[in-house]
Amino acid sequence: MKPNLFCYLFALLLFTQVSFAQITVDDPEIKKMITEVKAESLENTVKKLVSFGTRHTLSDTKSKTRGIGAAQQWVKSEFDKYALESNGRLTSKIDYFTIKADGRRIAVDSQMGNVMATLKGTDSSDDRVLIISGHLDSRVTDVMDAKSDAPGANDDGSGVAAMMELAKVMSKRSFPYTILFVAVTGEEQGLYGARHLAELAKKENWNIVAMLNNDMVGNSLSSGTNLRDNTKVRVFSEATPYLETEDEAKMRKLTNRDNDSPSRLLARYIKTATDQYVAQLEVNLVYRNDRFLRGGDHTPFSQNGFTAVRFCEMNENFDHQHQDLRTENAIKYGDLPEFMDFEYLRKIAASNLATLANLAWAPKAPTNVGIEVKDLTNFSTLVWKAAETKKTYGYQVLIRETSSTNWEKMIFITDTKTTIPYSKDNFLFAVQAIDELGHASLPVFPIPIR
Ligand SMILES: [Zn+2]
Repeated sequence: MKPNLFCYLFALLLFTQVSFAQITVDDPEIKKMITEVKAESLENTVKKLVSFGTRHTLSDTKSKTRGIGAAQQWVKSEFDKYALESNGRLTSKIDYFTIKADGRRIAVDSQMGNVMATLKGTDSSDDRVLIISGHLDSRVTDVMDAKSDAPGANDDGSGVAAMMELAKVMSKRSFPYTILFVAVTGEEQGLYGARHLAELAKKENWNIVAMLNNDMVGNSLSSGTNLRDNTKVRVFSEATPYLETEDEAKMRKLTNRDNDSPSRLLARYIKTATDQYVAQLEVNLVYRNDRFLRGGDHTPFSQNGFTAVRFCEMNENFDHQHQDLRTENAIKYGDLPEFMDFEYLRKIAASNLATLANLAWAPKAPTNVGIEVKDLTNFSTLVWKAAETKKTYGYQVLIRETSSTNWEKMIFITDTKTTIPYSKDNFLFAVQAIDELGHASLPVFPIPIR
């Protein structure tokens, strides 16, 4: 090794370690917001949602006290309360649309509505959007039964409550990103609300950076196996993008990018943010779009080419999902608040908050991220373009072995090019932009450049 190269590497290592210590400092504002997420408040929201009797997609829309219509109006009225403290930036609406009878789970043409609150970004030239959702609708054993009580406390009162809690806390702050808080409908009948929103976003070319679906995030006891654990949450992400062009598929195969879809990069980002900000909660990365043969509201977003993941409790309790309320053989069936763990729900809401706040304050991700391949060498050279210089303090090069589930090393640099002593034959890389408070963009996976 030439002496000058040795000096360079030594300096690089030294600089890396010093800088790394700086950027792992917590942002006090994110910590403060997390303390504002309360288990008691989440519990009150879930109980209020249950009080509408049923929130079946095809249930009563006229009553003020029962059915999906009353529930939608209540969620909107809560958004309007939060708006009062948002300096005029939070606005709400019910986005109505009609779904034609489908011969399956929609008997007659039906009007549906997604309840949405939009927290407008502070920078009008910044079109980035983040979405967090839960589904408002509920069901019992017969998916067409729109009359019986369907409390839907955990499925998906939990996801709606988490989303609303974040709307309340985050709308008191300002972010350059626009954040959409949505209670979608029609999930149990076939993901209709989420599909409507995803197709609208695609048609209008929204710049969605991340979509977080929260569906069943408040139960910590499994049926049958009786596992009790409120320290882990699953985050599901697709392996290869649903939507990819022939060229993108070619590039994916060429660069061995089978475990680094944008959604999976987001899932790892969530794990990192959660490790940093949420005590006693571990993100369990599940390398599937959703549970085996099942789907959720993030799926139509993935199918329309957006980066989307699902949060879901670690262990499901099938005695309390999609069940008529009844007691049989001393087992009480039904999705009721009494079976939920609101401290667990609080931690998962906090994980969503740490993710969204970090992203919403992050500089724009670097562009044209490439890895040089012209020479055979055991070093790897990465180059990229700064998307934004105003907020960007530097960049993190993320490194892991090909068989590792998550990033193992971070190297901080201020330049837009780096040569590191890690061979591209043995490691995978990504680059993210970072500001002084440690808010990082989503990482970008490099493409080969000659
Ligand atoms: Zn659900």
